[in-house]
Amino acid sequence: MPSQVIKRRSRGFICLNAHPAGCRRNVERQIAAFAGKSSSSDANAPRNVLVIGSSTGYGLASRISAAWGCGARTLGVFFERPASGDKTASAGFYNNAAFHEFAARDSLFAASLNGDAFSDACKAEAIAIIRRELAPLDLVIYSLASPRRTHPQTGEIHNSVLKPIGQPYSSRTVELDSEKVTDVTLQPATEKEIADTVSVMGGEDWRMWMDALAGEGLLAPRVRTVAYSYIGPELTWPMYRDGTIGAAKKDLDRTAASLDASLSQKLEGRAYISVNKAVVTQASAAIPVVPLYISALMKVMRAKQLDESPVDQARRLFAGFLVGSPNAPVDEAGRIRLDDREMRNDVQVEVARIFPQVTTDNLRELTDFAGFQREFRNLFGFEVDGVDYERPVETEYTW
Ligand code: NAD
Repeated sequence: MPSQVIKRRSRGFICLNAHPAGCRRNVERQIAAFAGKSSSSDANAPRNVLVIGSSTGYGLASRISAAWGCGARTLGVFFERPASGDKTASAGFYNNAAFHEFAARDSLFAASLNGDAFSDACKAEAIAIIRRELAPLDLVIYSLASPRRTHPQTGEIHNSVLKPIGQPYSSRTVELDSEKVTDVTLQPATEKEIADTVSVMGGEDWRMWMDALAGEGLLAPRVRTVAYSYIGPELTWPMYRDGTIGAAKKDLDRTAASLDASLSQKLEGRAYISVNKAVVTQASAAIPVVPLYISALMKVMRAKQLDESPVDQARRLFAGFLVGSPNAPVDEAGRIRLDDREMRNDVQVEVARIFPQVTTDNLRELTDFAGFQREFRNLFGFEVDGVDYERPVETEYTW
């Protein structure tokens, strides 16, 4: 296909296309955070790493951290759309192409699998690649965020929902396209919706991956596996922690505990939940109330110079918990806490003070909605500094 000038197309707040040069620049910038800071000479640095959900957000940041922070060989699994006709590929597709380009430049082994991580076929394909190229694995990162899952055993399609449980919940929210601050009331989920969300975002699939890898003898002694979670402040609990997504995260906690027990017994391995900070990703922007909370949080954390990007968080995860620190501190429930800065009392007091005062008129003054919007567009490769958007670019890439 001839190269073309790509302008952002959106429906409401959602971007319908992506810019390859902007995505490439985002990946390049995340990699640059590791210049001169590799811990690859550390005997405990992971060498062979599988990242499930590796094309955007926390998974991409983790994969970059494993590769450029530790010199690891990585396999990334994700579900992204290639370019077709006059449609661009999805942002994660371009991110992955850029990941491979830079990995080749820096002589880092990388393999990628674009498929449905919930399926048996995808796991079998990953296992074949791992056996050939990355065995045994010493780190598995589970960073999926998906709206649906086809169950590999029943064939049933489960759709996740973002709803409160038990009673309706009313809160202030921002309509992302019109920038109107309004009050919304969300109706509680049905029992089926709760179960479906747990099926999609809970721990069953993580457990299936780890069982499949263990069954094939592909896990190294002292292997570690980490899945990501979120807790956040009480302000978001009816929607998040006590809602359908929270029910799924509690299931993930239980899976971590049982995986930890079996891995430590068999391989002296560990399974962790890492509770990460709220950041702008495609997944988090879809949760009602959360974008307004993140906009207020960004304002407060930036003023205090505490804000962190996904790659800052991933770097802290690896340096503090995964490389050379077998007994790193965890909370009373055994979880790694990377949300410590977000949850600081002075930060949360300030966010709680701002939140009820926000109106349509003062949204951009009281919160960093502009920053939220820019970061959201950045996710799709738009409004990225240093990119010439008037220049025609190729849309078809591969790795
Ligand atoms: P994201 O939307 O940026 O990334 C999701 C990833 O999952 C992508 O790589 C996507 O391709 C992949 N994916 C989705 N469906 C798939 C499928 N069927 N098969 C294979 N890959 C698939 O999301 P994110 O925000 O980085 O979330 C990752 C994890 O981090 C989630 O567990 C989320 O709850 C957690 N987390 C997010 C935040 C936040 O604020 N964004 C905070 C704390 C924890």
